[in-house]
Amino acid sequence: MSHSLFHVVCRDCRTESLRPTEEEAARVADDHAERADHAVAVGRVH
Ligand SMILES: [Zn+2]
Repeated sequence: MSHSLFHVVCRDCRTESLRPTEEEAARVADDHAERADHAVAVGRVH
């Protein structure tokens, strides 16, 4: 059981979310970056 959380945050608008896996965070980040043409960062919260 993992307690990691991944924070997805857009540098170009107020979009952000927390995801339980790196894979899911990356998917959300890629999706937003593609749709909005924004720079999205993913960071491990813990
Ligand atoms: Zn954005």
